[in-house]
This record gives sequence, structure tokens and C-alpha cells, in this order.
Amino acid sequence: MLKKLERVLERVMVGERIPALVRSGQSVPHGMIRRMQEEAFGEVVRYAARRQKFLARKLRESGIDPGRLRHPEELGDIFTTAEDLLSLPAEDFLCRPPQAVFETTGTLGSPKRIYFSYDELEASARHEAAALYKNGVRAGDRLVATFDGGYWISSWVTFLACRKLGVFCSAAGKPHPRELYQRLPVYGYNVIAADPTWLVSLSEIAEREGAFPIKLIVAAGDRMTEAYRGYVQQIWKAPVLLGYGSTEAGGGIGMECRQQQGYHLDEYDLLFEVVDSDAQGYGELVVTTLARRTEPLIRYRTRDVTRFIEAPCACGVTLGRIAPIRARRDEMVVMGAGNMHPEIFERILQDVEGISDNWQVAVRQEGVRDVLEFRFELTDGISPERVEQAVQQNLESRFPEVWANHLCGMYRLAFRYLPVGTLGRDRKPRRLVDERT
Ligand SMILES: [Zn+2]
Repeated sequence: MLKKLERVLERVMVGERIPALVRSGQSVPHGMIRRMQEEAFGEVVRYAARRQKFLARKLRESGIDPGRLRHPEELGDIFTTAEDLLSLPAEDFLCRPPQAVFETTGTLGSPKRIYFSYDELEASARHEAAALYKNGVRAGDRLVATFDGGYWISSWVTFLACRKLGVFCSAAGKPHPRELYQRLPVYGYNVIAADPTWLVSLSEIAEREGAFPIKLIVAAGDRMTEAYRGYVQQIWKAPVLLGYGSTEAGGGIGMECRQQQGYHLDEYDLLFEVVDSDAQGYGELVVTTLARRTEPLIRYRTRDVTRFIEAPCACGVTLGRIAPIRARRDEMVVMGAGNMHPEIFERILQDVEGISDNWQVAVRQEGVRDVLEFRFELTDGISPERVEQAVQQNLESRFPEVWANHLCGMYRLAFRYLPVGTLGRDRKPRRLVDERT
């Protein structure tokens, strides 16, 4: 009863008003949020058990009665995976007729399709609006979102979020940075939401030709190294805050605050677990959609590796927080050099001159030895020798233990050069691939 009351209060007090939602994210004790989540978790599991073929089958196979469930661990090894979404028909997950669909390509090839109702998209937008408001976006501001269009969800949710805030919004697809640069003064945008690599290209133009007044930049859709973030912040003299989300989660999962210390999570609509964690607490993030009823996902394995941050944030938000995504679980490669993940190579390559942003590292096999092969597109006429020297120097100074394994002969380094444009064709090119058989 008490819990029901809490949820009713949350709805009545907060309602559609974004500033009130932000206040609730700063004042509601975390224990209360947990209790609301537990109740919502039980409800969505029981709902899906009745209407979702996929979950009903899993429960039957495991002999689990969803009647009294409150905690995700009580579902044992029942999860929903990307492979499930790709290999089974949409009807196995749909609980009622949908009103919208979005796709996500991910790293597994063919797209996953996730279905929504308009209300569900509105709910997601409400929390994105709260995150933007918390970070200083106000009615009258002018935001441009340049996330890829097509079947991607990001721009739509941002557009709906701006509507809730009374913010002028252009969801422009992904124009060439040059085209957007020319429009910045025309439309007076002062907030930009975009992919990290696109932002870097835009900033390079602004560095040469001058920046316009911008109050906030939100980068999402890919991971952003601190070197890139620092560069973009310096050019625009505005904070760059990272957002983290996915189509499966219905848009935003979390966003940084001005402290730039991990993502504050949308715990109103989503329940989070970190599973298979190591000694430092890093494991795979698992998300349950608490509010959606069209295609609820129960314990969806995101494949993203992170950990919870238990310490309270200086900004005062009481919602849970996760560390920046360390790696994609399926991008981690165990090899002669050690446990490799893409972040290592981002740090090695961040200041290497003469290569394009589209690089890839492959782990190959030659006889019984691993080969770490760097694949680059050369630019600016810098010679391969200089590139290779810089890579080896950075590897040695930044990852001495990885370099030590090289000196021990546990793997060999190789370099391959490809025509410009070869590596950037996929929307989400894989930074690190394991090609050993
Ligand atoms: Zn914070």
C-alpha cells in the first residue's frame, strides 16, 4: 500500500513538469527509488509472463513462478540477449500492437528492431528533458541534434524532450559538419547534441574559422575519449557532457552532470544490474524496462562493461550512477598482449599524427603466435615509419605491461595501410576484432 502511494505521489507531484522531475531526482531518497523499482519489476515481469511468448517460454523452462517476484536475481539465468532479438520473430516479444519501430545495427550485423507506443517515447523524452534541464537547458534555448537519422531513435527522443522544455529544436539527421557550421549563426543554436567523432570534425572547422557562442554540448552514440572531449570543450568554451543510451532501452539510459563523473541513470523507467563482475566490480550492464508495455525487455544484456558508482555525486542527484563504459563485452579480446579492449587503443592512438579517425586493430594468428595488427588510413602525407614509431612509443609509455609482453615475444606487432574511406563504411565500425580461428 505504502509503495503504491509513493508511486501515485511521484506521478501527481512530478507529472509532466520537468523541473519537478529534476527536483525529485535530487531529493527522493535512493531507498524509495529502489522500492518503487522492485514493485515495478514484479509488475512488468508478471505482465510479460502473460503476454510475451519469449518470457513465458523461459519461465516455463526454468519452472519459475513469477507470482511473487521482486528482484531480478530471482529470475536466475533468464536474460534477454541481442541474439534472442535477432533470431526470434518480433511477435515473440510484442505484448500489444505497436505504434512505432526503431532499429539498431550494433556489432552483430543485421539490425535489431524494437517496437514502442507513442506514450513510451514520450516517457523516455520526459527523462531526457529532465537531464537536459538539470544541465542548464531552458525554454528559449536553441538545440540542434545531429544524430544519424534513418531508423535510429536518438533524434526523435531529443526532439520530443525539447518540446517538453519549450526549446527550439532541429533534428537534422547527420549533415556534413560544414553544412551545420554554416547554419549555426543562421538559427542561433546554443546547444549541440551529436556523435563524438562528428563533434570533433565540427570543432576542427571552428578552430580554423571561429566558434560561435554555445552553452552546452551533449555527446552520445559512441564513446568519447578524454582527449577528444578536452579538445571540443576548448574550441567551444562549453562543457561537453556524455549521454549513454540505446534503442533497446528506448533512448537515454543515463547522462553525465557537470561533474563529468559517470552517468546518472534513469531509474524511474529502467532497472539496472551489473552481472559477471570482476574484483573491481566491472561487469556487464543488464537493463529491465520497467515502464514499457509494448515490447518490455526483461533483463536485457547490453554487452557494455561498467560498474556502479556507490559514492554520492557532488551535484546532489540521488539517482544511481555507473562509470563510463569501459568496453563492449564482445569487443574484449584475451590474447598474448593481455586483456585487450578498444579503450587501450584509443589511448595509444589519440595523438598519433597522420592517420584518420577510422582505425581498427585486429588480433590474428601466425602459427602459434598472436599478431596485433593495426589497420590505418594514412592522411596528411605522413610516412608509415613515423606512424609506427609513434604507436610503439605510446604503447611502451602508456601500457608498459602490454609492451613487456611484446618484449617477451608473446605477440608480434604488424601494420597495414588501407585506402582512406575503407574502414569508416560501417555505422559502428569495430575498433578491435578477433580474427583468430
Ligand atoms: Zn552528478
